[in-house]
Amino acid sequence: DENVCPQAAEDPLFGLMAAYKRDSFDKKVDLGIGAYRDNNAKPWVLPVVKKADDLLREDPNLNHEYLPIAGLVDFTNAAQKLILGPESPAIKDGRATSFQTISGTGAVHLGALFLSKFSEQKPTVYLSNPTWANHHQIFSNVGLQIKTYPYFDKKTKGLDFNGMMAAIKEAPSNSVIVLHPCAHNPTGVDPTEDQWKQIAALMKERDLFPFLDCAYQGFATGSLSQDNFAIRHFVEQGFELCTSQSFAKNFGLYGERAGVFHWVVAPAPGAQDAVKRLASQLAILQRSEISNPPAYGARIASKVLNDPKLFAEWEEDLRTMSGRIIEMRKAVKAELEKLNTPGNWDHITSQIGMFSFTGLTEPQVKAMQEKHHVYMTKNGRISMAGLNTGNVQYFAKAVDDVVRN
Ligand code: PMP
Repeated sequence: DENVCPQAAEDPLFGLMAAYKRDSFDKKVDLGIGAYRDNNAKPWVLPVVKKADDLLREDPNLNHEYLPIAGLVDFTNAAQKLILGPESPAIKDGRATSFQTISGTGAVHLGALFLSKFSEQKPTVYLSNPTWANHHQIFSNVGLQIKTYPYFDKKTKGLDFNGMMAAIKEAPSNSVIVLHPCAHNPTGVDPTEDQWKQIAALMKERDLFPFLDCAYQGFATGSLSQDNFAIRHFVEQGFELCTSQSFAKNFGLYGERAGVFHWVVAPAPGAQDAVKRLASQLAILQRSEISNPPAYGARIASKVLNDPKLFAEWEEDLRTMSGRIIEMRKAVKAELEKLNTPGNWDHITSQIGMFSFTGLTEPQVKAMQEKHHVYMTKNGRISMAGLNTGNVQYFAKAVDDVVRN
C-alpha cells in the first residue's frame, strides 16, 4: 500500500554518481563521492594494500571460514591501538572493547543501536550542522531523537565555535554529542587542539556522552598519531565514550567494508566488569544483524597494521594521497585568483581532509552540473580528490562562470 510504503527519494549521493555515469560529455568532472582518485581520475589501490593482498593470496592456509562475532582479533586490537593510541590508559586498564563492523557506517549503526537499547532514558543525539547526511538516518532509524548544533560559519567559512559551545551547554545531561575527531565531513573544518580541550571540558561539566565518528584518520594533519588527538584527549579526561572507525578512505578499502566500533568505559572500580557486560550485549546485537563481519578487508588491514615495515609503507601511501589533495587545493585557489573570480577563496586551502565546502549556492551547484558537467553535492561540497592537473583549470573556469552569472 502506498500509504504504508510510499516511494522514497533516491539517495542524493548515489543518485549523483549515477547521473555522472550517464553523462557522455568528455570533460565531465566527478567531485561527488569521497573516494580518492589518482591524477588520472582513476581509483587507486594503495601499493601497500596490493602487497598485503599478494601476501594473503600466497598463504596456503587461507580459507573462507566465518570470523568470530566480534571480528578478526588481530585486526581489532591493532585498530584499537591506532585510534586510541598505543599508550592509551583505556587499553592498559582493559576498559575498551572493540567490534569489527561493516565499515564506518556499520560502526556508527552498532553504536546507535546500543545507545537506543541500553540507556536509562533514550538520549537525544546532537549532530553538527551540517554533517555526513547518513548520520541523520542512522540515528533516527534506531528511534533516537536528533538535534543539531551549529558548526559551520557561512561568513568566515570556518568553525562557528561559539555557536557550537552554546548549543552543547544547553544540551540535557546524558545527551550524545556526535563529533568528527578529524577532517570533518562535509566542511573540512576542524576545531583546534585548544578548542577540543574546551569542548571536552564543557561536555564533562554538562555530563554529555561523546560519540566520535572517525572516518578520515591520516587525512587531516597527514599524521595518523596527530589525527586522533581529540579521541586521545577525551579518553585522557576520563570519559565513557564510543568511537566508530572506518578504513574505507585511509586504506582505500571502500567496498571491502572494513571498520571497527570501540567502546571505552570510564576509569572506575568495576570498569573491567562493565566492559565485559557491554561486550556481551554488543555480541548479541551484532549476531542478530550481521552474525559476523566480512573477512577480506580486515585481513588486508591487519597485515599492514601488524607489520612495522608495511605500516611505514602505508604512512607513505597516506602522504601520497593527502599530498596530492593539498596540491589540488593550492591549484584551485591559484586558478580562481588568476581568473579574479569574485569572492575570497582562502578557505579552499585552509580547509582540510578529503572535502572542500566551496560556498557555492544550490543554484550555482545546479549550473555547475547542467552547464559544465561538474558533479558535486547540493550543499556545495567537493571531493578534492576528483580534481587533477588535467581538470583543475576547467573546474576553476566553471566556478568562475557560475559565480559571475
Ligand atoms: N562517517 C563519516 C563522517 C563519513 O564521512 C563516512 C564516509 N562517507 C563514514 C562515517 C562511513 O563510511 P564507510 O561506511 O564507507 O566506512
